[in-house]
Amino acid sequence: MIASPAFSGKRYAVLGLARSGMTALECLLASGASVTAWDSREEPRRVLEGRAGVNLADPATIDLTGYAGVVVSPGVPLNSHPIAAAAARAGVPVIGDIELFALARSSLPAHRVVAITGTNGKSTTTALVHHLLQSAALPVRMGGNIGLPVLGQSPLAAGGVYVLELSSYQIDLTFSLAADVAALLNLTPDHLDRYDGTEAYYASKARLFAMQREDQIALFGTSDADTARIAALEAARRAPGKVRSIDGADLAALQADWPTLQGPHNLQNAAVAVAIAEALGLSEAQWRPALRTFRGLPHRMERVAEAGGVLFINDSKATNPASAAPALAAFPPSDHKRIHWILGGLPKGDRLDECAPFFGNVAAAYTIGEAGPRFADLLAPAMPVRRSEMMCEAIRQAIEAAKPGDVVLLSPACASFDQFRDFEARGDAFRQIVQTLLEPQAEQVAGATR
Ligand code: ADP
Repeated sequence: MIASPAFSGKRYAVLGLARSGMTALECLLASGASVTAWDSREEPRRVLEGRAGVNLADPATIDLTGYAGVVVSPGVPLNSHPIAAAAARAGVPVIGDIELFALARSSLPAHRVVAITGTNGKSTTTALVHHLLQSAALPVRMGGNIGLPVLGQSPLAAGGVYVLELSSYQIDLTFSLAADVAALLNLTPDHLDRYDGTEAYYASKARLFAMQREDQIALFGTSDADTARIAALEAARRAPGKVRSIDGADLAALQADWPTLQGPHNLQNAAVAVAIAEALGLSEAQWRPALRTFRGLPHRMERVAEAGGVLFINDSKATNPASAAPALAAFPPSDHKRIHWILGGLPKGDRLDECAPFFGNVAAAYTIGEAGPRFADLLAPAMPVRRSEMMCEAIRQAIEAAKPGDVVLLSPACASFDQFRDFEARGDAFRQIVQTLLEPQAEQVAGATR
């Protein structure tokens, strides 16, 4: 647990008592602050009943005058939730757990912070940076959007590195994080329910760099013009050499050695991770072997089974067309692996433009969920389509159609909430159904069932 004298004797409100909110509350209490806590669900409130230093009340309905901050979970939509107005009335900042971490930094042993953002590839790059640094024997912690609250971890001794994955929602709740190295992988329209257009979403990501000092390092992917625009703005305000755009071309020849980092998107992720590692002082002799031993993350191009020469890949984390496109691109015709593509779910738009250049890699599509009928109509001119509706049916049909050398790929290009709790539950369902339908001939890929 990270605690800090910076919070001692102050009053905070914490709204949203899931993992990161509960951890923020514990950090504040351990630091000697008092906390007004609330969640619309009764269960986490009950856990806190009678707890010393905790007052249970909805901060959106009380006078917040005198509070040092309102800590909200990144899941709270600030554009529509009453907490924003309540805090503004009292002149109290609305912050998140990453801001608490930023405020606690001055009382931590000397350390460096890496912050990684982007529309796609954040978790992969964050986990990879963690792996590269750990392989080089640096003390390292990983936290943020990757699902590990940074405040819940024990502080590092001097010389350590905190690697943070930050979503735009988390950046919106952070005001004083001067990251020693910050990276923006890419930008494509996403989360437009929470932002007033793409420009507002991009501006949110750009703030990560505005919080840095001029002498700190900013790294950018090169796959889109909006990221390049932010890179150019940052280059104009910083010392020479502090802003780098990373295209990965120099690493392309090595990529064949990285089993869990295939596809053009992973070349981008790996190149940015290597640039971060080098910015922290790692040498090629340190990062190069570690790229080979990275295990990858579940639900991102995760190989879950291989049977009868057919490979089954769970890419459930591809929740928009821009993130499904690289999965299709990972099996070009020259590989002679034809894709049986399972897609659909809760649509984020009604087009698949980003995927279209790779339609030629697909042997057949199997549409599921709410987006199914729309996607089936869209794809029918380009490929054979089965309107499977349910995941189980899609997998059954794909197994029936697949020939040795083919790939059955779940890369839905949609959110999961129409049929599943979250993308993890959707990926777990894919893995389980595949394994059940393949029994007994499946040899599951070692280590794939994490
Ligand atoms: P995030 O944490 O940003 O959501 P992940 O690393 O979890 O990103 O990857 C999510 C999905 O996005 C993966 O399934 C993958 O297919 C796709 N993806 C990963 N990296 C990139 C990238 N650099 N550009 C485009 N798509 C990517």
